[in-house]
Amino acid sequence: MSSITEAINELKAKLPAGVQLIAVSKTHPADYIREAYEAGLRHFGENKVQEMTDKQAQLPQDIRWHMIGHLQTNKVKYIAPYVHLIHSIDSPKLLATVDKEARKAGRVIDCLLQVHIAAEDTKFGFAPAEAEEYARSGAIGELTSVRIRGLMGMASFTDDTARVRAEFAALKALFDRLGRQCFAGTACFDTLSMGMSGDYEEAIAEGSTMVRIGNGIFGKRYYQL
Ligand SMILES: *Cc1c(COP(=O)(O)O)cnc(C)c1O
Repeated sequence: MSSITEAINELKAKLPAGVQLIAVSKTHPADYIREAYEAGLRHFGENKVQEMTDKQAQLPQDIRWHMIGHLQTNKVKYIAPYVHLIHSIDSPKLLATVDKEARKAGRVIDCLLQVHIAAEDTKFGFAPAEAEEYARSGAIGELTSVRIRGLMGMASFTDDTARVRAEFAALKALFDRLGRQCFAGTACFDTLSMGMSGDYEEAIAEGSTMVRIGNGIFGKRYYQL
């Protein structure tokens, strides 16, 4: 058995029912994805539009592609025809663009609001208070071709698991509050995307419903220059 298949089987045995596994295949070749596909995975995450679109064209059409990286508005059109879930909505302008391109493609696209929960300020996303204000504003309700399914966040890169858990717990609390107060009429506000290779156990303990695992499945990433 290959190490990819082995890693997938081990992860599957560990993840509770109700937690969706997204295999983050960025930088890895299509052959690796095919192997993971053969081991039963259908959900793959990428962070670059061009790379995801190239892979989408050459791999089985029942793969569900997740955009997890920062998305520029002028590139939304390339993924609108096929993307399954966009985790990285980080501005009202981006969501409005996804809405427009989804309509052109004759689709409704599921999206998550990316919320900045880590202490480092290098990451994209809404501040928690901004996300809440945006959700309360009613502006999202005017968009007809996107559905906000939930939230995505990344914890700080640190060995301090108490801090990581506290960050995930804060995101879960926001998710619950928005679900009750802002998206209560939409039965589909059900996705909390948090947890990567290094911290998915903490994320699951704090209520994650979707984990995004790269290294833990495919091994180390090598960036080409
Ligand atoms: C790369 C990436 C992951 C996966 O990270 P690993 O440490 O390889 O599991 C998850 N989420 C996002 C947003 C990423 O960019």
